[in-house]
Formats: sequence, structure tokens, C-alpha cells
Amino acid sequence: MTLPTLTVSKFGGTSVADHPAMLRCAQIIKNDSSNRVVVVSASAGVTNFLVRLAQADVSATEQAEIIEQIRQIQYRITAQLEQESELNATVEQLLEELAAYAEAQALNHSSRIADSILAFGEQLSSRLFVQVLNSIGVNAQYFDVRQVMKTNDLFGKAVVNIEKLKVQCNTLLKDKLADCVIVTQGFIGQNDAEQTTTLGRGGSDYSAALLAEALDANSLAIWTDVVGIFTTDPRITDQARSIKEISFGEAAEMATFGAKILHPATLIPAMRQNIPVFVGSSKEPEKGGTLIQKSVESAPTYRAIALRREQTLVTVRSPAMLHASGFLAKVFAVLAKHELSVDLITTSEISVAMTFDNPTGSTQALLNSTVVQELEQLCEVSVEHGLSLVAVVGNKIHKTNGVGTSIFDALSGVNVRMICHGASEHNLCFLVNENQANEAVEKLHTSLFA
Ligand code: ADP
Ligand code: ASP
Ligand code: MG
Repeated sequence: MTLPTLTVSKFGGTSVADHPAMLRCAQIIKNDSSNRVVVVSASAGVTNFLVRLAQADVSATEQAEIIEQIRQIQYRITAQLEQESELNATVEQLLEELAAYAEAQALNHSSRIADSILAFGEQLSSRLFVQVLNSIGVNAQYFDVRQVMKTNDLFGKAVVNIEKLKVQCNTLLKDKLADCVIVTQGFIGQNDAEQTTTLGRGGSDYSAALLAEALDANSLAIWTDVVGIFTTDPRITDQARSIKEISFGEAAEMATFGAKILHPATLIPAMRQNIPVFVGSSKEPEKGGTLIQKSVESAPTYRAIALRREQTLVTVRSPAMLHASGFLAKVFAVLAKHELSVDLITTSEISVAMTFDNPTGSTQALLNSTVVQELEQLCEVSVEHGLSLVAVVGNKIHKTNGVGTSIFDALSGVNVRMICHGASEHNLCFLVNENQANEAVEKLHTSLFA
């Protein structure tokens, strides 16, 4: 069965933070009948509580306190709904399961249990959002995404099996869309052993994009707390302004280089299937937002600036590199063995500088110990933390005259550590010290976009 038009709509944490926020989202769904699949994040703050609960050193008292905080967030929502007591019973049942996982985690910590714990936020918010939709007359049904979002065993960063997702969506989900709006969870999946997995922080955007691809949707809408994609993070400068239209290529670079508004992988399924993506604010849907699609009318040299914090720079140096072959292969073999992914790389005659993204801290631990020891068998190694990666995103940056002057003149007074330019037509990026990151972005923004 094919529906005339299908939009997959994703609502982030602040959009489902409380009852008024959920109600605004429900109205967005009601206003456009193409909205048949809704993907929700956990209510704002809940995943952060769960992250703490999933750690190894949480006392029984702290476990109970965290669970109580989560209960209060959900109860403030159920208190506004007619089915309050049934919903509270559902919340209690989930929190009981959560408490059992937390207890097990304190006794014997594992990344498998951590994922089961992290997944409760989306399970709770999706159940409540179904009732909010029903309360305004939308026929909505809960759907457990783990039935379709089949992944491998990489807990914390599970990889989705796209073929299985498609098959499962065709068998279990597609037909339901004729009669009702389906409400499901972002961020979570399930491995072959039916254990819960998660796709990485901020992963609900990616879940929604994968579902849009699997269901052959006509569009994907990402509803968040800002009116679309801005020229830079509006939290850094109030001069940032919303972009009306942006190409897949440019937006993908922004996401990859740290623009938190989209999970880095979000645009991969959308690009594969050529699904336009809308990004807007669920608080102010009337203000429009950003349309991301394959081709757009304008292709300015400078479109936006992205910032990614917590970067680590590793420099390896060896005179043996001079006129020798195979040295880099040995360095990369060490990194590959430890599954470390290099982001940027620059080379000179006898040294190579590489950057690593460090969102969880595990990369930092590895780079500080094992990997350094192994690399030191080959060369001198220095490791520096506390850096930020700034990316200027646009079009034909690699072929445009004067790009270097425009960018680096604007950065006077900022210590620029490493520059990567030329590999991509869409970006020029460089490292700065963390304490100069905001200053660098503000100065560049004023110069390139004012
Ligand atoms: P959600 O919970 O809806 O997924 P996120 O907090 O993950 O929302 O992403 C939205 C936030 O992304 C914004 O509040 C903003 O601070 C940040 N952000 C970073 N870069 C940009 C950008 N270029 N444009 C808009 N927002 C950005
Ligand atoms: N709730 C998850 C997180 O906070 C996933 C998401 O919001 O996209 O990371
Ligand atoms: Mg997000």
C-alpha cells in the first residue's frame, strides 16, 4: 500500500519536555495529514539522568533519587491528561524495570545494561505522547521501534541493519499507517539476541531519517528548539541567522563538524533516497525553518560555521619518515587495531598531525595510554587535549580566490593550530584552543556574515 504523501516527523527533547510542549507538537501533527510517523526523543534532561544511572559507581540512594526525578518529569505530563492513573501505572511499571537494571548495573557494570538503561527515556516519552495526540482527537498508536530497528552488538553506538529495517517496516509498520499516526522512539534499537541497543547521543534524528528511508517517505521533518539551521550555533552569537535553504552536501558537513542541530549521520539516509529534510522550531512552527535538499538555488562561498569541542591532536614525528615508504601505514594500523577514527590529518616531511573526536572520553583514555605506547615503538608522539575544531562550510571553498585571506584575517589574535583545506569543496577547517573557540567563531561570523 502506498500513501499519497508521508512525512516522518521527529521531535527532540525540548519539544517533548512537558505537557505544553507536547501539545504544540501534537498540533503540528494534526495540522498536516501527511504526518503519519512520529519519532520522539526522551523528555529534556531524562537521558542525562539515565547516563548517570548507567555509570558504575551509583549508590542505591542516588539510584532512587535519579528515578524519582525522572518520575516527576513524566508525572507533570500525565497530570494534564485524562488517563492520568493508567498512564502513571505504565510509568511505574517502566520505572520498576529501570530500577532493576540500575541495581544490576551497580553490581556488575556492562555496556549492555547501560544501553537498556539509556533506552527508558524514549520508551516513557513515546507512551505519553500517544495520549497527548489522542487528547486532541488524533488517532495515534504506540509502536516499539525495536521491532524494526535491528542493529549489531556495538552497545552505545550500534550500527543499524538497513536491509532488515526495510523488511521489518514493510511487514510490521507500513499497513498501520493507513489508519493511524504511529508514535515511536528515536535513539534505540535491538540486536539479534533481542537486547536493547542505542545509536549514540543525539541519535533520534538518525532514527527518524532511517525510518523515512525505509518507509519511502516523501519528507522528513526535524522539530527542535530553533527556527532551522543557523549560520552558526545561535548560542554562540546572537548575530546567527536562520538559513532558508541548504544543500545536502553543505548540511551534512555542518552536522559532521559539530552543528548539534543534526546528528552527524542524519543526512546519509536522506541523501540515499533523496528525501527533503525540513528543520524547524516546534515552539514557533509558523516561523518556517530550513529546507535541506539535493539542489538549492544559491551556492554561496560561505554558508555557515560549525564548532566541535573536545578534540584531541596527536602528532607523530620520525626522521625515518623522510623519503621512506610504509611509515604512515604502520601508524594507521595501530589506530585501526584500536578502532580509532582519524578526522583531520596534515603532514610535513617528518611529522604527521591527526585529530580525534572525543565525545565520550573513551578515546581520550585510549590515546593517553595504550595507543601512545604502541606508537612510541615507531616514532615520537605528542598528545594534546582541550582543542576545538572550527569548520567554515560553503561551496567551492577549495577553488575560490581569497578564501584564506578572508578567513585568517578575521582571526587575528586567535592561535590557529592546524588547517585542513582542499580535500572538500564544502569546507575549510582548523583547530583552536578551547578557550578561544567562541571568540574564533564570533570573529569569523562577524567578518563572513555581517
Ligand atoms: P533536539 O533536542 O531537538 O534534538 P538539540 O539540542 O540536539 O535539539 O539541537 C538543537 C540545538 O543545536 C540548538 O538549540 C542550538 O543551540 C544547537 N546548534 C548548533 N549549531 C547550530 C546551528 N548551526 N543552527 C542551529 N542550531 C544549532
Ligand atoms: N535522548 C537521546 C539523547 O539525549 C537521543 C536524542 O535526543 O536524540 O541523546
Ligand atoms: Mg538533537
